[in-house]
Amino acid sequence: GTLGARNDVRCMSIEKKLGIKASPTAVMQYGEADGAVGYLVGEENQGLSIMFGMMNHARFAVGLQGLSVAERGYQQAVDYAQNRVQGTPLDCSPGASIAHHPDVLRLLSVMRAEIEAMRGLTVIGGAALDLARHGPDEDKAKLDERASLLIPVIKGWLTERAVTLTSDAVQVHGGMGFIEETGAAQHYRDSRILPIYEGTTAIQANDLVFRKTLRDGGASVRALLSEMEADLTGLNQKLAKPMRRALAITHQTLDFLCGTANDPRRSAVSSVDWLMMLGWLCGGWVMARSGHVVAAGKAQGFSQSFLDAKRVTADIYLQQCLPELEKLARVITSGGDAVLAMDPEWLTRH
Ligand SMILES: Cc1cc2nc3c(=O)[nH]c(=O)nc-3n(C[C@H](O)[C@H](O)[C@H](O)COP(=O)(O)OP(=O)(O)OC[C@H]3O[C@@H](n4cnc5c(N)ncnc54)[C@H](O)[C@@H]3O)c2cc1C
Repeated sequence: GTLGARNDVRCMSIEKKLGIKASPTAVMQYGEADGAVGYLVGEENQGLSIMFGMMNHARFAVGLQGLSVAERGYQQAVDYAQNRVQGTPLDCSPGASIAHHPDVLRLLSVMRAEIEAMRGLTVIGGAALDLARHGPDEDKAKLDERASLLIPVIKGWLTERAVTLTSDAVQVHGGMGFIEETGAAQHYRDSRILPIYEGTTAIQANDLVFRKTLRDGGASVRALLSEMEADLTGLNQKLAKPMRRALAITHQTLDFLCGTANDPRRSAVSSVDWLMMLGWLCGGWVMARSGHVVAAGKAQGFSQSFLDAKRVTADIYLQQCLPELEKLARVITSGGDAVLAMDPEWLTRH
């Protein structure tokens, strides 16, 4: 073909950003001179539903970005910690790396556990998205409902955690984490956009609490919780007990939230905490199942050290990460009274 007339669309500037500097963000100007020509994408009057379809996938993909940058930060932190020698870790010989200091070990192993939980949830969400489209017809409606419930959790929880996890990766590096040479700081900067674009965490949380939780009186969430409960059958107590406790607390919190349905400010003030709570819970679900596969001897053909690492990682998640849910439940069931009593005008009163 040949070049047609130039459309009146101009790139006015490239923004300077905190991170993702390899991905240019531009200020575009449309139609300032002659009027820009727009082209219809898809059928007339179908724009909103096409956009929602696109947004579901985009939100899932940003959650996946969170997982990916957290994994990269983790890999770099482990590599650094296994080679850096500083002080003699308790019960070790001189020359042992900082990975043997109990607190460095805590940082790294909690990172590993969370990332594994995040990955498992991504697989569950991705499978629901795929099967809702390509699976058996009789399952499609249920899977579509499951995918749309999980997407705000995947987008919100994974990206919020990515910011903390990449920060922890900087921490493991000590001072070298703050120095650009190691590359740890770049992951931290790059992760900061993830809870913002494709809808901030608060926007995901509004979607989760109003459209996916309250609109059906909590039915979709209860269906998810029942599936989690069913998956606990046959699990040993070490895996099942923390999940049973977390599920009971989540049921109580869900009932409380459903009771705020006529008072939207109350539902909204708890929405991000509710999103994060479901994130931690889904992570526990994934990790308890993973621990069970190993404990029940169902994983064949793997080395013993791989299986031991899997077992311990599941325990770490259930002991160190899942209790985050309990704090959030307490905050939610306080009703947010203290925050709602704050007048925005008072924010500048000192
Ligand atoms: C690098 C970069 C790339 C981007 N790429 C694209 C792109 O390709 N396409 C595109 O369309 N957009 C893009 N965006 C825009 C991006 O999606 C928005 O910046 C983002 O959705 C937040 O909207 P906002 O900036 O208007 O913030 P605001 O809506 O002004 O939000 C400010 C604060 O208020 C909170 N807030 C706002 N409304 C509510 C509410 N109802 N309830 C609770 N809290 C609320 C937010 O959570 C946030 O904390 C990009 C932005 C950046 C920085």
